[in-house]
Amino acid sequence: MADHKTDVIIIGAGPVGLFAVAQLGMQARLSCHLIDSLDRPGGQPAELYPDKPIYDIPAIPVITGQGLTNALMAQAQPFSPVLHLGQCADKLEKLDDGNWRVSTDYGENIEAPTILISSGRGLFDPRKPKIDGLAEYENKSIFYALRAGVREKLQGQHLVIAGGGDSALDWCMALEKEAASLTLIHRRSGFRAADDSVQKVKQLVAGGKVNFIVAEPAGVVGENGVLTGVQIKTKEGDEFTLRADRFLPFFGMTPKLGALENWGLEMERGKIVVTDTRYASTSIPGIFAIGDASSYDGKQELILTGFQEAAHATAGIYQHIYEKPLRVQFTTSSSEILGALGVEKHVDSMGEITTQTPMESLVERGVVVNA
Ligand SMILES: Cc1cc2nc3c(=O)[nH]c(=O)nc-3n(C[C@H](O)[C@H](O)[C@H](O)COP(=O)(O)OP(=O)(O)OC[C@H]3O[C@@H](n4cnc5c(N)ncnc54)[C@H](O)[C@@H]3O)c2cc1C
Repeated sequence: MADHKTDVIIIGAGPVGLFAVAQLGMQARLSCHLIDSLDRPGGQPAELYPDKPIYDIPAIPVITGQGLTNALMAQAQPFSPVLHLGQCADKLEKLDDGNWRVSTDYGENIEAPTILISSGRGLFDPRKPKIDGLAEYENKSIFYALRAGVREKLQGQHLVIAGGGDSALDWCMALEKEAASLTLIHRRSGFRAADDSVQKVKQLVAGGKVNFIVAEPAGVVGENGVLTGVQIKTKEGDEFTLRADRFLPFFGMTPKLGALENWGLEMERGKIVVTDTRYASTSIPGIFAIGDASSYDGKQELILTGFQEAAHATAGIYQHIYEKPLRVQFTTSSSEILGALGVEKHVDSMGEITTQTPMESLVERGVVVNA
């Protein structure tokens, strides 16, 4: 049974998947549901380099990984994408009515005539602390990411978070109020995270809301998957056990392909082969691939390449659904696009009806950021 029906199931809410929402919405008025294994949109720029400046996004001289994500979310917002976060696209089925059904590992089913794969380098596999006995507690008392359904399991619990990056600090800020106690451990006193987050966590530590210890995890204590403590080793070599019902090590991620590898798509060197670059088509009709996930002769793994591929995929998806070519329109003048964006026609100072909309109203509605 379908929990959701849409025009396009997008797998991967990285920069390329997010831009595809806007492109599909503007040029083809198609609706999208996105699935991403991470607990927030943005893919590599948001997860791996949120504060690093990017210099090669067309017409934006400099923007951070998180800034780009925010801008892409704002651009996608008029098309009301539905995001299924903290879930992996798992099973693929072809239905009798010709539609696809994608099931996630969280048990959600989404049906659509087309699938757009923008899964980048793949799932982000957590780097785990190098200590024994973790497996018994994983997904019961130890969590490496705040996947769907995990947060409820943390409420009112004694939490130990390990790490000094954005994920560790973000979750300190988010969980501090709902935990019975929260201890952050990190191997050094400095953090590698957004300045604002560092300041806020330092304030929480100063205010006694978060207990911070410069230390590394050395072991776990408990029984039958029920954790009671985390052993730590301080910089000075002292070892002791912290009370903990839940342990959240956030040590970064490495990519892995996951279930998509077994969907029957033609692949080369871990990438999905694009059989017709005009449409970003794959070897399976109705399934399209863009961004870092895809491969063809001359491919450049850049964000701007993925944006261009999203335009090609839009043409392919439209052709697949409506069995006719997409007529690409200019956003400056197409009344259909302006209608889809919710932009109104207005009379300009010369008394002529134009399709231009004052920039302020776009900024107000979040369609334009940093204008
Ligand atoms: C440190 C660093 C710096 C970089 N600097 C630049 C730069 O300056 N300019 C530039 O153009 N590029 C840069 N890049 C490359 C750029 O980040 C990538 O080209 C870009 O992120 C690709 O976007 P994408 O949307 O295709 O994939 P990704 O950003 O990888 O996003 C893919 C998303 O798909 C999700 N996913 C994967 N499999 C599944 C599944 N089965 N189910 C659910 N979700 C899934 C992942 O969780 C991820 O969120 C840099 C990369 C790194 C690592």
